Amino acid sequence: MSMRTLFLKADEPGVRRGAEVIRAGGLVAFPTETVYGLGADALSAPAVARIFEAKERPQGNPLIVHLGDAAALESVAARVPPRARDAAARFWPGPLTLVLPRAGAVPLITTGGLETVAARVPSHPVALALIEASGRPIAAPSANRSGRPSPTRAEHVWEDLDGRIELILDGGPTPVGIESTVLDMTTEPPMLLRPGGVTLEQLRDCLGEVAVLKGDDLEAAGRSPGLRYRHYAPRAQVIIVERGAGEVAVAPWLEAGRPVALMAQRRVSLDGPGFRVRTMPGDLEAYARDLFAVLRELDSTGVEGIFVEAVPPEGLGLTIMDRLRRAAS
Ligand code: AMP
Ligand code: MG
Repeated sequence: MSMRTLFLKADEPGVRRGAEVIRAGGLVAFPTETVYGLGADALSAPAVARIFEAKERPQGNPLIVHLGDAAALESVAARVPPRARDAAARFWPGPLTLVLPRAGAVPLITTGGLETVAARVPSHPVALALIEASGRPIAAPSANRSGRPSPTRAEHVWEDLDGRIELILDGGPTPVGIESTVLDMTTEPPMLLRPGGVTLEQLRDCLGEVAVLKGDDLEAAGRSPGLRYRHYAPRAQVIIVERGAGEVAVAPWLEAGRPVALMAQRRVSLDGPGFRVRTMPGDLEAYARDLFAVLRELDSTGVEGIFVEAVPPEGLGLTIMDRLRRAAS
């Protein structure tokens, strides 16, 4: 499949064009506050099928449905428990996805065959304008080829999906930079399926007890199908090391003449041919915003290994470590 992909500024005419494409069953990449999404009419099975095709995404991996406001939940969820309403009131619009029982209007292809649906209200003005103008809930996974680092700039979408989708709306870099938190509201207590832009600490503050799905649970793959698949991975091998251990870890690679990179939240004094250093922000919000772009950029330099020093797994650090571990696996 090859088509001409339009690349437009995400201004009013761009969004209007995007809405026409969505309503016609086509694919539009657009900025959300987390990462760029690849959108299609969530209620149209053939439109959603094209998302899987364009991304080469495994069919069992369900999509997140994006809504214009919390009231629209009624159209995609069969039931909305009071605590889901509390979470929505506190965190929407924003990077929290709620898993709820599926309403019949949502085709099974959108939910990866599950009887639950994942939904959120994004805060990015372009995302909201596109949903509003198209008048549809928009299914939108990250707008990358399956397995690649998520796109945080329109250029990343172009690299991965040019010739496979109708339109890319360029709204600049995405402000959060990592995907939404996925919270299963069908269980008691609610269960964190994927850490993201809303932290576990924030969820517990709002909802009380929140269980955490362990990635290695046998059950885990069934509950959070996305966990089954390779994710976020650059071509280079990603290797996580303890904070402060970067220089020692890269030394043997450099001695063997293999080009490597090191990402660390501190000044690294080591220098040498074929060695690249990226000093990552100490502030975790800024770190998260840069993470995927730095992985893509280092990858494009042709390094064979990307060493990354670990960050403490608290707050957004939990999400950053989750993404790094998957990139490394
Ligand atoms: P992406 O949009 O590419 O960031 O991936 C969407 C994530 O949401 C994946 O990890 C999915 O497994 C998860 N997800 C979507 N729908 C459901 C659902 N009904 N139940 C559990 N997880 C879901
Ligand atoms: Mg994704």
